[in-house]
Amino acid sequence: MNKFTLEYAQKLDNLDPIAPMRNEFHIPKQDNGDDEIYLCGNSLGLQPKKTSSYLNYELTQWQKLGVKGHFSGDFPWMPYHEFLAEESAKLVGAKPSEVVCMNSLTANLHFMMVSFYQPTNKRNKILIEDHAFPSDHYAVESQIKFHGYNPQDALVLIKPRKGEETLCTEDILQTIEDQGDEIALIMLPGVQYYTGEVLDMEVITQAGHSKGCKVGFDLAHAAGNLVMDLHGWQVDFAAWCNYKYLNSGPGSVAGCFVHESHHHNKELPRFAGWWGHDKETRFEMDNTFIPMQSTEAWQLSNPPILSLAAIRASLDTIKMAGGIEILRNKSIQLSAYMRELVQQELGEQLNIITPSSRKASGAQLSLIVNTGDGKTIFDAIEAKGVTCDFRHPNVIRVAPVPLYNTYSDAFNFVTILKEAMQ
Ligand SMILES: *Cc1c(COP(=O)(O)O)cnc(C)c1O
Repeated sequence: MNKFTLEYAQKLDNLDPIAPMRNEFHIPKQDNGDDEIYLCGNSLGLQPKKTSSYLNYELTQWQKLGVKGHFSGDFPWMPYHEFLAEESAKLVGAKPSEVVCMNSLTANLHFMMVSFYQPTNKRNKILIEDHAFPSDHYAVESQIKFHGYNPQDALVLIKPRKGEETLCTEDILQTIEDQGDEIALIMLPGVQYYTGEVLDMEVITQAGHSKGCKVGFDLAHAAGNLVMDLHGWQVDFAAWCNYKYLNSGPGSVAGCFVHESHHHNKELPRFAGWWGHDKETRFEMDNTFIPMQSTEAWQLSNPPILSLAAIRASLDTIKMAGGIEILRNKSIQLSAYMRELVQQELGEQLNIITPSSRKASGAQLSLIVNTGDGKTIFDAIEAKGVTCDFRHPNVIRVAPVPLYNTYSDAFNFVTILKEAMQ
């Protein structure tokens, strides 16, 4: 049967056990009233229907209770971040004590580098990718300078091979082998934001540790997308935002992981704040900092509860779907279907730079336009109700998100793209 028919796509939707999850989200509408073909969950995830009631609950608590809301109600604000730990931990393969929601992503990367980038004259380099997300690049460069080193010498940039778009694991391992003795920190993405490539976090962590490097990951595009095992892989730290695949709203509070092997290390430098202080004695307002024996010790401030409420709504929605393994399972099939259609219908005009193996790709497909101007094509499909994003010079990124995208979305997207390219 021809897979490039709406009928076939609808059949796949009917067989999809988590298809009803789409009804748990607000889907933006086109001017004509139809649902948008929203393929931009890698940039900003859609709003779960639970979110407004979770936020309203906290607003009402504040109206009724004022300051007493810190200690009363079903979800008192004092320990509110604790209500997120268990489900956040499942997403990244951690113990609840190893994760906390706090700050923003880039801020967390800085706080993690305070603890895990301790350069010496012999070992002061940081290994990142050449095409890192700019914020990560700025953060790393500024940390190097902050410690009095020169990014020209201390920044090691890993690049794809000539003529290739994605990174080669062997090249990363070879660089670690060659320069590992001088590398203090390896900080790479779990999923590369531009190509959608998934890096082998386990193997990279092992290689880094064998050379005495600290290893951390930016999981902005991995959290809520992949199944991970940060604890088992012995990753030192990780940070991610909660607004991409985790649907917690624009600029929402971010996630952070520190491996438990570091929780009791008193030598580790840390920028401290009162929310990292031992809960039992926090309000004694003593001036001796007693860190919690968990990743909570890295918290600074009492967190924005409204943002955490939106995260709780998102985590509950994922739990309702059956968890990250279920999502990943659909994601593999949905993105494989979209890939097949793109290749079959547009294989000549487009290159998919996202690796095709299951292990090396997540929900995102990055398409390089070979014929015609990518931006013109992007504008044309946007006018037809497709929301995705464009990255210079010629890449269209689409993310079929298992929680709310359908096989029909994949079909409709390829149909519209094909029209736009003719
Ligand atoms: C989305 C993203 C960011 C955004 O950083 P914020 O601090 O949340 O603004 C940073 N790094 C990567 C790799 C991203 O994908």
